[in-house]
Amino acid sequence: MDFEQLTAFRRELHRNAEPAFLEIGTATRIERELDGLPVRVLTGRAVQDLSPVVNFPSEATLDEWAARAVDSGVPEERARYFRDNGTALVVDLMGARPGPRWGLRVDMDALPMRESADAGHFPVANGFASTNGAMHACGHDAHTTIGVGLLHRLTDRDFAGSLRILFQPAEEGVRGAQTMIDAGAADDIDHMLAVHMAGDMAVGGVVGSFTGGLATRKLKIDFVGKASHAAGAPEAGRNALLAASTSALGIMGLPRFSSADTRLNVGTLVAGDGVNIVPSSAVMTCEARASDDEVVDELVDRVRAIAEGAALAQGVRVNIALMGQSATVAPDDELIDLIVKAAETHREVTEIVRTQVLAGSDDANLLIRHVQRRGGMGAYLMVGAGSPGPHHSETFDVAEESIPIAIDILESLLRG
Ligand SMILES: [Zn+2]
Ligand SMILES: [Zn+2]
Repeated sequence: MDFEQLTAFRRELHRNAEPAFLEIGTATRIERELDGLPVRVLTGRAVQDLSPVVNFPSEATLDEWAARAVDSGVPEERARYFRDNGTALVVDLMGARPGPRWGLRVDMDALPMRESADAGHFPVANGFASTNGAMHACGHDAHTTIGVGLLHRLTDRDFAGSLRILFQPAEEGVRGAQTMIDAGAADDIDHMLAVHMAGDMAVGGVVGSFTGGLATRKLKIDFVGKASHAAGAPEAGRNALLAASTSALGIMGLPRFSSADTRLNVGTLVAGDGVNIVPSSAVMTCEARASDDEVVDELVDRVRAIAEGAALAQGVRVNIALMGQSATVAPDDELIDLIVKAAETHREVTEIVRTQVLAGSDDANLLIRHVQRRGGMGAYLMVGAGSPGPHHSETFDVAEESIPIAIDILESLLRG
C-alpha cells in the first residue's frame, strides 16, 4: 500500500469510527483489505472469549451499529457475522525462514464522543470527520492502518519466523485484550509488541517502549436488598443504599501502600427506588490502580471485603464483577535494543527516546505480560504523531506521515 492507499484506508476508518466491541464495519474493512494476501485470518470465538465481559453492548446497540456499518457500505453478510461473533481478528503471516513468532497488537476502537466541527480541524477540512457520535481521538484508526499496511509490506515473506497481528477491540476501558488472551490468541508468541501514536510527540519521534504505568482494575458492584414501606414497615426492608454508601466511605478510607503508588476512586453510585421506599438496589463502579501488579490485587481484595462486610451488616446480597483491567509494563531490554536499532536506520526518524513512563493504562500490557510469563519478550513502541490536541480531546488528530514511519520501523524489525 502506498501513502495514498494508507491514508485513504485510515480516513475511511476515521469517518466510520466505532466504539468498544462495536467495531463491526472496521473488522469488515480489515478483512476486505487482506483479501488475496498470503495470510491466515482467524475471527469469531477462535480468537475472542466474550462470555465474561461485563456491560457488553445490548442486542439493540449491536443492531444499531451493524445497521450503521451496512449503511456505510460494508457487505451485510460480513457485518452480521462480526455483530454476532465479536469483532476481533487474528492474522498470521509466515516468513520464509525459521525464526521467532512475532505478535503485534493494534487496537481498533474509537471513543464515544463528538469530533470537532471546526473548519480548521484536519479531518473536517479534508471531509473525513466522523459524524456518528464516536471519534477516533486516540489514533486507533492509524494503528489499524499500520497493522494492515505492515501485512501488505511483508507479503514477499522475506523474513525469519512469523508475524501474528492481533486486531483488538475495546482497548478504551481496558476490556478487549483479556478476551483475546482467554481465547488463547497470544499463547504461542515469542516477541509481543504493541504500537501506539504519541500525539504530543512531533512526527519523526520514536519511543522504544513504554515502561511502568499503573495496573488497574475496574469493578462494578451490585447490591441487592429488599424494598419495603419506609414508614409502614421499615424493618422489613434490606437497605442496599446504606450498604453501598458505607462501602464507598470504606473504599476511600483504605490505607495507602508504602511499597507502591496507589489510587482508588468510587466513580459512580446509583441507588434507590423512591423517597418513601427502603432502597432495594444500588450499583457502584470503582477503580483501583497501583504501580505494582500484586498491590492492585491486594487493593481489590480489600475493596471486596469492605463491600461484603457492608452488605452483611445490612442483610443485602452483593455481586462484584471485574469490568476491565490492565497491568504495568516491564519491557525487555533486548527487544528495546532491536526497536531502537530498527528506528535508527530510517532517515525520517529524527528523535529516539529509549523508554518513557506510561502515564495511563493500556491493556496491551496484559498481552505483553502473558507472553513474558510464558518465556517470551515484550515491548510497547510509540511513534510521534504531532497532534494539535491531546489524546481523547475533540481536536486530536494524527499527522498521517507518522503511519508509514511506524510501518517502516516494524518492517525493519521483522526483516532483522
Ligand atoms: Zn485512548
Ligand atoms: Zn489508545
